[in-house]
Amino acid sequence: MSVKLNQIIQTIEALAPEKLAEAWDNVGLQVGSRQQSIKRLLLTLDITAEVVAEAIEKKVDLIIAHHPFIFKGLKTLSTDGEKGQIIEMLIKNEVAVYVAHTNLDKAAKGLNHYLALRMGLDKIKTLEPSNPALYYKLVIFSPQEASQKIIEVLGKNGAGTIGNYDYCTYRSPGTGTFRPLAGAKPFIGDLNKLSCVSEDRIEAIVAAPDLKNLIAAVKRNHPYEEMAYDVIALENGGLINENGLGKIGVLSQPMAGLDFIAHTKDRLGLVALRGAGKVPDIVRRVAICSGAGADMIGLAKARQANVLITGDLKHHDGQRALENNIWVLDAGHYGTEKWVTDCFRQLLEAGLPDACPEMIVAESARDFIVNY
Ligand SMILES: [Zn+2]
Repeated sequence: MSVKLNQIIQTIEALAPEKLAEAWDNVGLQVGSRQQSIKRLLLTLDITAEVVAEAIEKKVDLIIAHHPFIFKGLKTLSTDGEKGQIIEMLIKNEVAVYVAHTNLDKAAKGLNHYLALRMGLDKIKTLEPSNPALYYKLVIFSPQEASQKIIEVLGKNGAGTIGNYDYCTYRSPGTGTFRPLAGAKPFIGDLNKLSCVSEDRIEAIVAAPDLKNLIAAVKRNHPYEEMAYDVIALENGGLINENGLGKIGVLSQPMAGLDFIAHTKDRLGLVALRGAGKVPDIVRRVAICSGAGADMIGLAKARQANVLITGDLKHHDGQRALENNIWVLDAGHYGTEKWVTDCFRQLLEAGLPDACPEMIVAESARDFIVNY
């Protein structure tokens, strides 16, 4: 089955929009064209010369990676250096490169959600919601015959998305009044006469980045010359927002600390697991953050996790774990993030059920850190 690369990008970004990425990050299409036809693709954590050679040998049209291949400003495409040589190989062989990094880490149902499910957690919540206050309630006043259309426009433009539901709105009937003045071209009513009209008050929540476009879209579809609307900042944005770093959840069957070590190694496919802090008698609440998540030690403690699983734990992170009386397990940066290939695979299979290209997991991608 072949699809346009643009369709693959839209499928990934429906779950992990680019705007979720950190400001320092560089995500999205890095090599190739959105118009390219994709029959076969390669999934990988990192892009290396070996991974690109494998992509060419296996005749894939696209590499989807987690870590950006082009990260900081590229100053030259000279083929005397490895970066230039890799880009030359990609372009000559018409292999596109697409990256979803911190946007996938922070997506409500992204990599950390995948890991939380993999660890067997229930009641999964986001450990550190991003931009928690940046939610608004948008209230639109509409003549009743236009209400259904307004609700469709709200839902289509991302308003009213709460957990696993979208198009969440509330509509209440009432009476609106207005008097058209000289120069007005009223949809209903006459100049200089007070009009009373049966209207609906329609309300929905909206994330701050979507607000401006949403208001413009509703205005285009609202019959009145002057649309009456309110924008109200919400205090409970942090409760609604599930985008952000890390997850916390509970094990359906609590287990002894030592059993949890075996459980983690088994679920994450690890040969080694480092740790710091006191091993708890019973583990029930588990926090997890892919990659380097030692910054989450304080937050995991505050959210009463029995353990934080992350990667890249340094000496002083271990000290902080001891001081904060929280158990931290270091499953490795690679150990937590190698699962991104399975996360991408599930996402594309669900998003392109009838048109999913053939997907191969890179065999040449590996952990740069070696346990001897
Ligand atoms: Zn990473």
